[in-house]
Amino acid sequence: MKVESTKTKLKVNDNVVVISGADKGKRGKILKINRNSGRVIIEGINKRKKFLRPNQENPQGGFITMEFPINLSNVMLFCDKCKKGVRIGMETKDKQKTRVCKKCGKSLDK
Ligand SMILES: [Zn+2]
Repeated sequence: MKVESTKTKLKVNDNVVVISGADKGKRGKILKINRNSGRVIIEGINKRKKFLRPNQENPQGGFITMEFPINLSNVMLFCDKCKKGVRIGMETKDKQKTRVCKKCGKSLDK
């Protein structure tokens, strides 16, 4: 069975805002996008402790704090001009597709 990958206009390094869940309202940069699972990892968002099994370097085991993925539908691209999460529109300029804010039309690709 073929896994349908999630369509998203978001990209790594995008500045996004979380719109639901425990981190609602927080902003961060996308570190990783997993299109197959429809999840993203965002810098500083959804940090949880993870238990590390004891190994040679660390015989006691221990905890590390790391970002866990959240659902793509829980984040929106942050528009500097609108100061909030916005929907992404596409605009073709000089035969190049660029992402724009659907609300104010600001280009979201630098
Ligand atoms: Zn905007």
